[in-house]
Amino acid sequence: MPRFLVDIMLGKLSKWLRLLGCDVEYKEVKDLLVLEEYLNRGYIFLTRRQAWLNYKVLRNKPVYFITANEPFIQLCEVIKKLDLKFDPRSFCSRCLKCNALLEEKRREEIANLVPEYVLHTYQTFKQCPQCKRVYWPGSHKEKMLARLKACFTAARNSSTSCVGDCAQGQLPVPSD
Ligand SMILES: [Zn+2]
Repeated sequence: MPRFLVDIMLGKLSKWLRLLGCDVEYKEVKDLLVLEEYLNRGYIFLTRRQAWLNYKVLRNKPVYFITANEPFIQLCEVIKKLDLKFDPRSFCSRCLKCNALLEEKRREEIANLVPEYVLHTYQTFKQCPQCKRVYWPGSHKEKMLARLKACFTAARNSSTSCVGDCAQGQLPVPSD
């Protein structure tokens, strides 16, 4: 899974990428030296600021200008541009908020942190070691997964249909 440095204004895209399991640092990038340091460390930079494209030193570097406005279409753009592959083992492996790798927890360990019906409905739980948020499989997750898979398939099969397909219907954006 690639590592991304995601510029300000792309907060929802950063959550989608974390949902896929990508290592995502989301921050406002203002300084060229800071950006180069990230690029040297293997990060791919995603930005909405066209000004970054004017720097000669950044040519031939993994710096991508995101054109779409809608977060899910932005994600499709990234999948296509970088030819990302869906990895089921990485899906839902990170906290959407902190980027930390989630830890598997037994039911009794998180019993007082989730609603009772959730506790009795699901078998598997994951927790963020930083913010302590608990994640569990749910119907919204299945929907997101279905749309993501459709996006990956479309990106593989065609250069244009992906954006159209993904723009249809309602898709829940990962919540905070
Ligand atoms: Zn967290």
